[in-house]
Order: sequence, then structure tokens, then C-alpha cells
Amino acid sequence: LPARLSAIPAYWAARAPDAPALHEGGRHWTYAQLQHCVEHAALLLRQLDVRAGDRLMVVGENGALQVALIFAAASIDAWIVNVNARLSAREIDTIATHSSSRRVLFLAGASPEAAAHAARRGASPVTVDGMGELLAGGLNETAIAEDTVPGNEQVAALIYTTGTTGQSKGVMLTHRNLLFIAAVSSNLRGLTRTDRAYGVLPISHVYGLASVALGTLYAGAALYLVPRFSVDGLLAALKDDELTIVQGVPAMYAKLLQTLGGADTPLPTRLRFAYAGGSPLAPSLKHEVEKLLGTALHNGYGMTESAPTISQTRLETPRRDDSVGMPIPGVEVRVVDVAGLDVAPGEPGELWIRGPNIMAGYYREPAMTAAAMRDGGWLNTGDMARQDPDGALFIVGRTKELIIRSGFNVYPLEVETALNAHPSVVQSAVVGRTLADGNEDVIAYVELDPRQPASVAQLQAWLAQTLSPYKCPSAIIVMEALPAAATGKILKGQLRQMAQNTL
Ligand code: ATP
Ligand code: MG
Repeated sequence: LPARLSAIPAYWAARAPDAPALHEGGRHWTYAQLQHCVEHAALLLRQLDVRAGDRLMVVGENGALQVALIFAAASIDAWIVNVNARLSAREIDTIATHSSSRRVLFLAGASPEAAAHAARRGASPVTVDGMGELLAGGLNETAIAEDTVPGNEQVAALIYTTGTTGQSKGVMLTHRNLLFIAAVSSNLRGLTRTDRAYGVLPISHVYGLASVALGTLYAGAALYLVPRFSVDGLLAALKDDELTIVQGVPAMYAKLLQTLGGADTPLPTRLRFAYAGGSPLAPSLKHEVEKLLGTALHNGYGMTESAPTISQTRLETPRRDDSVGMPIPGVEVRVVDVAGLDVAPGEPGELWIRGPNIMAGYYREPAMTAAAMRDGGWLNTGDMARQDPDGALFIVGRTKELIIRSGFNVYPLEVETALNAHPSVVQSAVVGRTLADGNEDVIAYVELDPRQPASVAQLQAWLAQTLSPYKCPSAIIVMEALPAAATGKILKGQLRQMAQNTL
């Protein structure tokens, strides 16, 4: 592995200068052009007083300039802190403060939200040669540069987690972490320079950054950057851009299916395969999407703390079930009990992982880092999993989400999977609610397909057919849309609070 992320565009600019690297809204940049922009952006960063060991925050949405800034920051040893412009003003200010960023840059052209944040913070225009304008906020004189680290152990990116289980945490990922995932992603997908990958997952999140953007560019393939998901946008890109690879989250595929309905004949595409990751993929959804796209929908599992990939299903062995696949090469896994001892093969337990992708730690949160890390370099994922004899992993649920109802364990994922299998359920989220006596009960939130309406009583009856009574929700609440992050992940923390406060 090279020492810095910036080796990626430099490598291809030297070997395939005219190959297309980035596409965005009808424009494109070859690898030589991208490298030129990266070098110019690096100069600009120095002029803006961003130095080695500084955090550089970038507020935007997917676009070429955002990618160039990642490599530019990497080349001067600054940490990139990409933040999605769809976060609220308060969330953005919290991250700017917590990360102690020297500068905040705004990709004002990316979205009205990005422009509004820039205006609010009084940012002024600067231009990156060949890519266009962005807005720079004032200098934070009090920001302290962190020490730089030799080799590729230098921190490259500070990425804030989704905040599903509570407060979002700032994860420090090194050049080695990200390059390792870029290389593995590229190799496992058999990417070549002729591939065209869809860059719709937010680059502000680690899945969009490492697995999609860096994984694609590592192979010298072309990345089609899109700021936001829409079914029409995806269909147009499949047709006009002749995409060969699509990576998304299950919610995106659910939307696609809901809009188009089931398929008798698959869409005509040049797709080699599609990927889902980031949250559980219901087998019912997977099968329908495979029929619609006429190709395998693979599942990958990971987390911000592991840059992100831990396991994924392999192209050679597509699966019919809800396995998240085998651990990726170089990553070791253990399934352990509460005492940290390995459980019997095939039994569920907490998943611990070790490998070159494990984060350097949570920024400015040593106690949280110590709580997640175990002796010998193991990271406790906080997820419950089981492993088949062949190595395939299955996620059972999050440790923190486990609901204990009258002494019985209820895994929300099992209830969600049963709900999602109902034809009118687009997506669902199940949370626990603590009762006055300390007991918990099960609350389900669902988003329904308006064209296939179902009553709550019908949904309850459906669940009663497949789940033991103690697993059936005491309430099913229909919402027009479940609260979601920019990545499409359901914000369960909000639902948990809602269940606690309003029921
Ligand atoms: P926070 O850590 O702030 O509570 P988060 O864990 O949701 O939020 P991410 O790092 O974005 O933040 O998500 C990682 C988690 O997503 C994993 O720990 C796991 O619970 C879940 N996950 C990711 N991929 C899959 C998958 N393919 N199937 C099931 N669950 C998945
Ligand atoms: Mg997490």
C-alpha cells in the first residue's frame, strides 16, 4: 500500500492520463485533469493556512470538487472532515467545534443547503483551477495541529458515525485503513478501467468514501458522482452512462422497487452486479431487486470504525439468504460471549474484529476508544452475529438494541425482517420501550406503499403467523417516511425517543 491516498490519482495520471476518472452532471475529468485539480487545490489549502496535522472540514454533497479536496488534503497531511450539507446548522457547528477544524470550506454549488451554510458563516469565494468555485469560512486561530505520523499511520479522515445508538462519534481513519479498503474493494469486485461505478452514496460517510469512491478510483475506473438519490436519476444513469456497478443502501433499492413495482423481465442494463450495505438487507427485497436488475445484489457489512468493510458476499458465490458474506481477506473475526470467550461454532454472540482497517480511535474520546477496543487489537463491533462453518457471517442485531421482554430476548432485526416481507411494507424499524416497571416492550414503525395499503390489524396478523407472541410488537405505527440520515440509514435513536415520549 502507498503512504498517502493522494497516490491514487497520481498513479493513474502517470499511467492512463486520458482515462475518465470523474463524471458529474454532464462534465467529466480525466485522471490527468483530476491530478491537476488536486495539485492546485493543495496549493490553495496552503494559502488558506491549512497545514499538516490540521482538520479541514468540507461541507457539501457528492461532486468532483469534494473528491479533489480529499486528495489535496491527503497530500499535505491535513485530516479531511467531510460533512453532508443536509445536516442542520447546529449539527455542523457541533462538528466544526468538536473536530477543531482550522478551516471550513463550503461546496456552495452542491446544494441550496450548502450555500445556506456558507452564507450563515460568512464564507468567501476561492477557485480551484479546472473545477470551479467553493467558499472558505474564516480561519480558526485556536485550532491545534495534531502531530503527523510516519508511514501510512497518519490520520487521513475524521468521519462522524450515523448516531444510530446515541451520540455520533468522530472516527479517526488512517491512510492505511482507507487504502486497504480501497484495494480490497477494488480486488473483490474485479474492477477494471472499463468499469463505471455509481457514486450516489454520500462521500461524507465512510461507505461512499472508501468502498465506493476510493475503491473505484484505485482501479482506475470511472466514478459517476451524484449528490442525491432518485429513482429517475438511477434509471437514467443505468441507461445513458451504461453503469456497470451500483452500490447503495437497502432503502435505495426499496425505493426503486416501490416505484417500478416487481419485474417480469429485468431492466436492460450493463450492470455486472449491484451491492447493498450499511443496514440489514431483507431477503425478500434482495430477491425482488435481483429480478428487476437482472443481476446479483450482494450484501456487505461494515461500520465507520473499520473503514468500513468487515465482510461481503463474493461475486463467485452469490447467496440467496441474508448472509453478509465472508470476512474480507486480512480481517479476522471472533464471535464471543459476555465474558469475551469464543461461543460454540454457529451460536450467536458479539462480533469482534481485527485487521488493517481498524480505526486509530475516536477523536478526543479516549474513554470511548478504550471501551470499544480489546486486548490484542480487537474491536468490539457492538453487533451480534453468528458464523456458519464455511465462514459466512449473519448479523443478528445490535447488542444495544436487544429488547428484553419479560425475560425473553427480542432482536429487532428479526421482527423487521418479518415486517419487510409483507408486500405493503416499504421499510420498518423496531425499537424497545422501557416501561415503568423496568420491563421492555416492542414498538414497530413502518412506511407503507400507498398503492398496496394494509391496516395495522393486517400487519399484526401477518406477524402472528411467523413470530412467537412475545416477539410481536405491542404497537405498530405507520409513518409517511421513517426519519433517515443522508445515507438513507434509518435514525433509530429518534424513533426510540419517540416511542419513549409519545406512547
Ligand atoms: P452509531 O455508531 O453512531 O450508533 P451507526 O453504528 O449506525 O451509528 P455506522 O458506522 O454508519 O453508524 O453503521 C455501522 C452499523 O450499521 C453496524 O455496526 C451494523 O449495526 C449496521 N450494518 C452495516 N451494514 C450492515 C449489513 N449489511 N447488515 C446489517 N447491519 C449492517
Ligand atoms: Mg456504530
